[in-house]
Amino acid sequence: MQKYEKLEKIGEGTYGTVFKAKNRETHEIVALKRVRLDDDDEGVPSSALREICLLKELKHKNIVRLHDVLHSDKKLTLVFEFCDQDLKKYFDSCNGDLDPEIVKSFLFQLLKGLGFCHSRNVLHRDLKPQNLLINRNGELKLADFGLARAFGIPVRCYSAEAQPCPQVTLDHMDTLLGTPTEEQWPAMTKLPDYKPYPMYPATTSLVNVVPKLNATGRDLLQNLLKCNPVQRISAEEALQHPYFSDFCPP
Ligand code: AMP
Repeated sequence: MQKYEKLEKIGEGTYGTVFKAKNRETHEIVALKRVRLDDDDEGVPSSALREICLLKELKHKNIVRLHDVLHSDKKLTLVFEFCDQDLKKYFDSCNGDLDPEIVKSFLFQLLKGLGFCHSRNVLHRDLKPQNLLINRNGELKLADFGLARAFGIPVRCYSAEAQPCPQVTLDHMDTLLGTPTEEQWPAMTKLPDYKPYPMYPATTSLVNVVPKLNATGRDLLQNLLKCNPVQRISAEEALQHPYFSDFCPP
């Protein structure tokens, strides 16, 4: 830890506090994530360390680089590439007025990062705007990759807004898209822990939810939101969707 000079706290994440810091030798600015474990007395589980070390090999321009893993005194600090801000803060600063070309560029980069990880059998499992980091030059990078698998998916409900628990998220999706029926998803009722669920009809069309998105964009979104994984479009397939036919990656 002496290698880094802590500069300021930049966020409070699912797994711990994030600080901006400077490498004293190279002067490189990094983000330090001090992982909070439920039971610090037990130290860092070896399974978590194994997962984290695998993440160090996930090198892609749309994934926040994990430079280092510092493990001492039963504590774990992850050293990440530093990014300017997260997508949630960017959305808030735009007051919902997003340029459709920027939306397309961000979605393209999100799918590139996801596709790369899926090709290496790594799942994110906690995708949300706070975990998508962006830079001044328009680059988007996925953060917190694989941590859900290393440390477990957070199940605590802080508030519906700040930390949606699975139930809140499911209710929101179901009231928007309609609860999937057995016809749409035959294997649903055979899933482990399946419980009969209130059947909501779809209340609205995506046109009302994303009025500025064109018809091809809505078609892609509809395919990304399919509950039945067999019907859902993969990241790789999504990159070939006509929505991106006029997009030139930088
Ligand atoms: P997280 O634990 O990744 O959800 O981090 C909480 C917050 O810290 C994020 O929403 C970001 O605002 C900030 N943050 C996390 N990682 C970085 C990073 N690599 N560079 C800059 N800010 C970060």
